[in-house]
Amino acid sequence: MPSDDSKDAANSSETTTLIQYGVIKTSAKGKKQDKLMDQHQYYEFGGPWSVTAMMLFFPVLMYYFWICLWFYDGQLVHPTSVDDIVPFVLRMWEHVRADAAPTLYTWSIYTGLMAFELFLAFVAPGFEQKGLPVPSLNYECLTYYCNALSSFYLTLATAAVLHTTHIFRITEIMNNFGSMMTVAILWGWAASFATYWITIAKGQQFRMSGNFFYDFWMGAPLNPRIGYVDLKMWAEVRIPWVLLFLIAVSGACKQYEEYGYVTANMAFMVLATGLYINACAKGEECIPQTWDMFHEKWGFMIIFWNFAGVPFTYCYSIVYMASHDPSTYHFSTPAYIALYTQLLVSYYIFDTSMSQKSRFRMQMQGITTFRKAFPQLPWSIIKNPTFIQTEHGNRLLTSGWWAYARKINYTADWFQSLSWGLCVGLASPIPYFYPIFFLVVLVHRCGRDFERCAIKYGEDWQKYCDVVKYKFIPGIY
Ligand code: NDP
Repeated sequence: MPSDDSKDAANSSETTTLIQYGVIKTSAKGKKQDKLMDQHQYYEFGGPWSVTAMMLFFPVLMYYFWICLWFYDGQLVHPTSVDDIVPFVLRMWEHVRADAAPTLYTWSIYTGLMAFELFLAFVAPGFEQKGLPVPSLNYECLTYYCNALSSFYLTLATAAVLHTTHIFRITEIMNNFGSMMTVAILWGWAASFATYWITIAKGQQFRMSGNFFYDFWMGAPLNPRIGYVDLKMWAEVRIPWVLLFLIAVSGACKQYEEYGYVTANMAFMVLATGLYINACAKGEECIPQTWDMFHEKWGFMIIFWNFAGVPFTYCYSIVYMASHDPSTYHFSTPAYIALYTQLLVSYYIFDTSMSQKSRFRMQMQGITTFRKAFPQLPWSIIKNPTFIQTEHGNRLLTSGWWAYARKINYTADWFQSLSWGLCVGLASPIPYFYPIFFLVVLVHRCGRDFERCAIKYGEDWQKYCDVVKYKFIPGIY
């Protein structure tokens, strides 16, 4: 049952500043709603046919974009006539066969990195953090071992030693990009199958629809673990963003070896990907508060995207720059200033908004001492936050960045993604895949999340939407 304070606050449509740390108690009504949401409700992502098409289509799209970048000057190639369709497909296939076949060498690089990251997840220094109460585990709070930051630093140190001693030159990642991508795709599929079938064999499947293709896409387990390592959290941070950053460094090293300098555009991508992985790692203890952790299952959608999609598609501007003369994407000084400013402002809002909400949620769980990993930005924690007390028991933050829009973090994240495309200007359309794709992902994800919250919080969600009126852009939308 909710506490008296909760009841009082829930009866009011006003936001409140009443602060009681560690008082979150899920009400009986809230528990009923949680139970409902732990059952399969309806098909998302267009249902079984649509997810099957996406599973087949994504790898093909990844090869297509890589071929365009690598062999066709970054332009979108297509058949020149109906008669050219079959020869076109054969030409594409020949590129894959000749330049993207998996080799023992690329298999060792990718698998070696994954194994190293998994090893570090067990042994690198870190600390324990409680996640949100999990309804399906009788509201138990799982413990997460957070050592992504020390693992990242150890990875960087190891990569630097391997590079400078010539044991493994970091430029090899870019030189073997196609083949590495194939290995990543195969790993994405293999890990998805293994996770699915092992979970079924153990009888730990959760929120299943009964349709194999759909369940394979959404996943079977909610909290897959090996010992104390949470695989979902490990894969969300340690594989995609670490590898993406190494790809950016690889592109920069390649440029340096060829031209004797690194362009401001390439340095921009090293900074942008570095900020992103550092943000994920330094705020790792906030990740259990995101719905990827407490709600999404670990299926093909997340596994494939973490293992292959993020590192090998968000990097298109890097791949373009690593394979083209710098004169094709050179900007004026004011344009560089604008580009870097856009990134840093978007990053600031992304970092602090995520931190404000996660730390608010932690406070409500009773966690009041926070980690101070570098960099701690001003306004990361809101003093005396206002919120809406829901009948469910949870509280919805209405101050800080969250007073302005209900998905302000998505807006800031999207502007970061836009800058990743803008850094090559108009030289190639392919680096704009990330911002375009991400826009679709975020709008769709926002719809799914709001739908879920509307079920979970009922009228309180409407009250929240009345207080925080805009979704993405304050005053506009
Ligand atoms: P959010 O951090 O917005 O989490 C949504 C959840 O937070 C809701 O389900 C709700 O959970 C809770 N919530 C919503 N509003 C409030 C509020 N005002 N106060 C308190 N709790 C609230 O989103 P995500 O977890 O989807 O994303 C996290 C980040 O990851 C985003 O910045 C996103 O851009 C990024 N991301 C990046 C991707 C990439 O490929 N680059 C892909 C996907 C995400 P509850 O039910 O518990 O109340």
